[in-house]
Amino acid sequence: MKDIKLNYDYIIIGAGVSGCIVAERLCSRGKNVLLLEAGKFFYSKNFLTKEVDSNSQMYWNGGIELNSNASIGLIRPKVVGGGSIINGGLLDPFDDLALEGFKDITDIDFFSLNSLNPYYEKINSLTTIEKIPEEYANLNSKIFKQGFKANGFQCASLERGQKNCPYSDGVDCITCLSGCPTNSKQSTMTTYLREALKNGAKIFSEFKVKQVDNSSRESIKVSGHDKNLKQWTFSCNKLILASGAIGNSKLLINSGFKNKNIGKNFYTHPQYMLMAEFDHEVNAYKGPLQNYKSDDLNFRKKGFKLENVFAPPAAISALFNGVGDEFFSCLKNINKFGSIEVCIRDENPGEIKVGRNNKTIVYKELSDLDKKKRDLGFDAIKNILYSQGAKRVIEGDFGIGLHLMGGCSIGSEEKKSVFAPDFSMYEDKRISCADSSIFPNAPGINPSLTIMALSIKFAEELHE
Ligand SMILES: Cc1cc2nc3c(=O)[nH]c(=O)nc-3n(C[C@H](O)[C@H](O)[C@H](O)COP(=O)(O)OP(=O)(O)OC[C@H]3O[C@@H](n4cnc5c(N)ncnc54)[C@H](O)[C@@H]3O)c2cc1C
Repeated sequence: MKDIKLNYDYIIIGAGVSGCIVAERLCSRGKNVLLLEAGKFFYSKNFLTKEVDSNSQMYWNGGIELNSNASIGLIRPKVVGGGSIINGGLLDPFDDLALEGFKDITDIDFFSLNSLNPYYEKINSLTTIEKIPEEYANLNSKIFKQGFKANGFQCASLERGQKNCPYSDGVDCITCLSGCPTNSKQSTMTTYLREALKNGAKIFSEFKVKQVDNSSRESIKVSGHDKNLKQWTFSCNKLILASGAIGNSKLLINSGFKNKNIGKNFYTHPQYMLMAEFDHEVNAYKGPLQNYKSDDLNFRKKGFKLENVFAPPAAISALFNGVGDEFFSCLKNINKFGSIEVCIRDENPGEIKVGRNNKTIVYKELSDLDKKKRDLGFDAIKNILYSQGAKRVIEGDFGIGLHLMGGCSIGSEEKKSVFAPDFSMYEDKRISCADSSIFPNAPGINPSLTIMALSIKFAEELHE
């Protein structure tokens, strides 16, 4: 690799949401930073347009990893920009309920709106957040909004990290799940990473970190291999873990770190999609994917929220029950299907382990209370869809985990957590983390904006 040295002040493992932000904050203060990222570097012009290609090239393990009893599919990005390249781009701050939940478990005072608001605000300097204009709402979104009204539920326009999306040119945002071709989506690759690189950050993409060796007092060694399987070892004074809940847990376990909490307290906000068939065309995949979100205090208290997303064909086909003709008749009529999903605030923690042949094993199940939340969500969705004339509603029984959180939780007590309130690791103060893996429980709200806020807070305090 051109220009890549072997020693750095800071090495960041993972160039996703957190990694790119920490890199930008450190480089803007003149620090010497290397990012190591397993995924490829794609640009707006070469994002993959076929689902089969993006699944295999932009996600770990071909697009989906299963929990131990195959009831939940875990979707984990592997691309420069991480989740921000392939996600829905919805950016919501936490509410008091989420932050009080974090504070109760961790006993950390900065989990409050007063403390985090200045960091949420800082995100606006590099990231544009917009509402999608109502005039572009597709029929699936209109069904969502009207169904909420008909049932007395509250919904609101959602806020998305995007800038001047050319809806009037007829863009279909479903393609953005493989990267936004118009560069409107505010991925950390187009915002923070771009700035970090201008300020001297180095990035080594398609580099898989395999081992962290902290046995020497002088420096921490990080080793792994590039796309040609050539082995490299880098050293740094300070190591920042930003490879997500599964990435960090796996790396620390494989590297022989002893803290018994590593891999524990893993949450996913399991989501279940219900597909509804109508007499008429819905074309849920056209235009913006979704315009509105549930904003109902009653749902929030009961532990679920609703979204009206859709997915590309291979993903959607996994949600139809049945085989043979029954299955194909659904696919043939795909343009007549709308969809609403329930996303639950899971209370039952899972655990990430590493099995034989370095295989990731994720134990994660719904407790009876979690199932109750899901079923309450199903009831609300059916009421919404039938009130809008759905002929039938197909209940998905397969959960999807998009928000992978925890595994290395933060907290004031070493015996219950992996990272301390200053984001440093209890086992070695030279190693820190502010990504999704430090979440102590499931907030029940889209996690990205808070990962961004915590990453800014961490990087600025680290510098001080
Ligand atoms: C389809 C989808 C839709 C979503 N929609 C939303 C949404 O609308 N709003 C929202 O808030 N959240 C959404 N999320 C979740 C959100 O994207 C994640 O919570 C967020 O990306 C987590 O940020 P992170 O920095 O912890 O990790 P990531 O962004 O996942 O970054 C981790 C990076 O580390 C790299 N890595 C892992 N292991 C290694 C290794 N050993 N060596 C080198 N690199 C490694 C990975 O390749 C990855 O690029 C969605 C997720 C998905 C999958």
